[in-house]
Amino acid sequence: MTAEIIDGKAFAARLHQRIAAQVAAFAAAAGRAPGLAVVLVGDDPASAVYVRNKHKATVAAGMASFAHRLPADLPRHDLLALVDRLNADVAVDGILVQLPLPDHIDARVVTTRIDPDKDVDGFTPENAGRLATGLHGFVPCTPLGCLMLLKDRLGDLTGMDAVVIGRSNIVGKPMAHLLLRESCTVTVAHSKTRDLPDVVRRADIVVAAVGRAEMVRGDWIKPGAIVIDVGINRTEAGLVGDVDLAGALGVAGAITPVPGGVGPMTIAVLLRNTLVSACRREGVPYDKEAL
Ligand code: NAD
Repeated sequence: MTAEIIDGKAFAARLHQRIAAQVAAFAAAAGRAPGLAVVLVGDDPASAVYVRNKHKATVAAGMASFAHRLPADLPRHDLLALVDRLNADVAVDGILVQLPLPDHIDARVVTTRIDPDKDVDGFTPENAGRLATGLHGFVPCTPLGCLMLLKDRLGDLTGMDAVVIGRSNIVGKPMAHLLLRESCTVTVAHSKTRDLPDVVRRADIVVAAVGRAEMVRGDWIKPGAIVIDVGINRTEAGLVGDVDLAGALGVAGAITPVPGGVGPMTIAVLLRNTLVSACRREGVPYDKEAL
């Protein structure tokens, strides 16, 4: 068996097109474009690349991009004051504070300060609670992108055995809640899990979000399983995921590659969440099915 490669880049490109069409409709109805504010503190090179890509994609979708680049020694209260201003700014529908923050600033304090209705990253306790209790809110972009790829491939996920490897607030936990919402039987594995290969072998759906290059081996995977590889690991051989792609290709039913799988979905979903926020805030209807 040779697994199908799930083309996240192509899926994300189609989503970008549908978003741009709805952004134009929103702007015509509301008299303004949806606005996304991105805050970058310090000069972490990887973060700078992410922020630049987000800015480009926001502008390309016809949205307003408000970039705030601040020095690494910015006092915490100045950052909180900026978040307060963005919360109050009517032109801003989404606020994203790029992580990680410098050591002297507790990211949890900053995240918690963001208005939950502008929290397009879905990181506030309010939105985590909404997801866990089945209320409308914003879902973190990467796991929502993973779910879109899974539903596109599988349709109904009801009753499937899903294993999520990783329990971070950004990927693993929200991914588990999303799969539970789809009526999967969900197992969350993590660094203390015993017999991880055997746990993974039970799964119809595997989502790997660990950050360890090619940790998940081909012989851990149930034949025909769908594998979503969230990991981004820089190695001497280049960028690789958490799954041994070559090994998994002979066993899995379908798998996302790294790069070109989950990565492109994250920015597309960020723009989707910003558009949805703008529509909710202005009372403008939107086509939920297309997003
Ligand atoms: P994290 O470091 O916050 O969490 C890693 C998780 O892996 C932890 O819950 C930990 O318990 C688990 N883990 C660690 N070692 C393990 C082991 N040996 N066995 C099983 N579980 C183990 O990381 P994160 O923020 O969730 O990100 C995970 C990976 O996904 C990273 O490579 C990150 O770069 C990538 N990522 C990609 C995107 C994207 O857009 N594609 C977005 C976010 C994160």
